[in-house]
Amino acid sequence: TIGMVVIDEHGNITAGTTTNGLNHKIPGRVGDSPIMGAGAYAMNGVGGAVATGDGDVMMRFLPSFLAVSQMAAGVPPGIITKLTIQNIAKYYPKFSGALIAVDNKGTYGELMYCIMSIYRYMAVNSMLMGNDPTTATLSAM
Ligand code: ASP
Repeated sequence: TIGMVVIDEHGNITAGTTTNGLNHKIPGRVGDSPIMGAGAYAMNGVGGAVATGDGDVMMRFLPSFLAVSQMAAGVPPGIITKLTIQNIAKYYPKFSGALIAVDNKGTYGELMYCIMSIYRYMAVNSMLMGNDPTTATLSAM
């Protein structure tokens, strides 16, 4: 899975998440990645967030939407990722998942939660390609 939050040189923010779906590939299953607010969410002027992990658990909490809503309320991204993932773990202690939240200034928070090491998460914040667009990437391998 790769999830990305991108801020362009005009301050436009977008977010998207792919899925490998390999562990869960049954006919008709959608997973969390394409569900707005679960796999990804972004709002200009506020920030963006991406999430992945046990999609059947994660999608019940809309972690990306929650993260952006909390950023709109002024909560720092690092606090948001911690609280959001902790809240899921409270109900599903054996789940595996990760969340990145990036505010409109490019400040980001990330948290990975994993009891069994099915996933390995990596967060990368990189300044790329002129005019300082900011990209935060979440990869599950
Ligand atoms: N989050 C994805 C799903 O549950 C799994 C993955 O892509 O790693 O469909």
